[in-house]
Amino acid sequence: MDCFEVVPQPVPELVTGGVVVRNEFFSLDPYMRGRMSDARSYAAPYELGEIMHGDAVGRVVASGDPAIPVWASVVHSDGWRAWSAGPAARYRVVDTAKLSPTAYLGPLGLPGFTAYVGMKHIARVREGDVVFVSAAAGAVGSLAGQVARQLGAGRVVGSAGSAAKVALLTSELGFDAAFNYKDGNLAGQLRAAANGRVDVYFDNVGGEQLEVAIGAMARFGRIALCGMISVYNETVLPPGPANIGMLIGKRLAMRGFLVTDHENLRQEFERAMAGWLADGSVRTAETVVTGVEHAPQAFTDLFTGGNTGKLLVRVEA
Ligand code: NDP
Repeated sequence: MDCFEVVPQPVPELVTGGVVVRNEFFSLDPYMRGRMSDARSYAAPYELGEIMHGDAVGRVVASGDPAIPVWASVVHSDGWRAWSAGPAARYRVVDTAKLSPTAYLGPLGLPGFTAYVGMKHIARVREGDVVFVSAAAGAVGSLAGQVARQLGAGRVVGSAGSAAKVALLTSELGFDAAFNYKDGNLAGQLRAAANGRVDVYFDNVGGEQLEVAIGAMARFGRIALCGMISVYNETVLPPGPANIGMLIGKRLAMRGFLVTDHENLRQEFERAMAGWLADGSVRTAETVVTGVEHAPQAFTDLFTGGNTGKLLVRVEA
């Protein structure tokens, strides 16, 4: 927390051919934690004193580009700030007539795209599969379970860290069964929820849940490694799954992926997700914290389960 400083931001000037945007919401994401360290990683670290960048959505208040009208909603990647300004090419106009602007940071943004790529193209969910998702009440997890259902999964199981989240998964988010991983007996809880067989594991957390999932996988099962949030704050990494050798006997496939490698799938994804949102077959959850000054605490709370669904900061007007 004391690593953050909130500073007033003057309203930027309009430059030729550019836009000025009043931010409405910006996204807080676990990957940002990795960028707050100079350890070798797939994403370049933030520089000290730099504004945290990441996905955001706002309204254009001044425009020097005829293709981006004033009052259009735009998404950009300038992140944690009240105002954004720059060349028009850095901003993408989105249609908020039927969808909330926050949809472009959630189901139609990074979490939705990650869920789609992971389930369809990495885990390759097939008709009738039993699918297990960890951090299932989070931004990616809550969508991953529903995407799996749309792809024909026969049973969708999720784990989450509170009774309220577990209840939400089965009552609102289309999961067939869910359990609280903090209640212990992970192997027994997963076996019971999955009726003894897991074909696909979509891993958001790593650690003990990955080990338990490997133990529960059926032969020829597929594991999509999406994230490892259980270790993002560790300075000494714990040993990996003790049962990794089971991948051999069970002929499991385990594959990590980065959604950023799959831009070629974006149009296919947007078409599919827009359809599922329109007909109500995919539902969304979000946690909105109001005020830029609350972003550091909300970001810290991501790592202790403070959010349900997509975590967003609303920028006060
Ligand atoms: P979430 O909305 O899922 O927020 C994080 C959640 O993780 C928390 O709410 C908490 O829920 C859970 N959590 C935190 N610590 C632990 C822990 N020690 N053990 C188990 N669960 C924990 O975040 P996102 O949906 O944005 O991200 C989910 C995962 O996907 C992350 O690992 C992220 O890095 C990864 N990701 C990967 C991408 C890729 O391209 N591969 C792209 C985007 C995200 P609870 O209350 O249930 O504990």
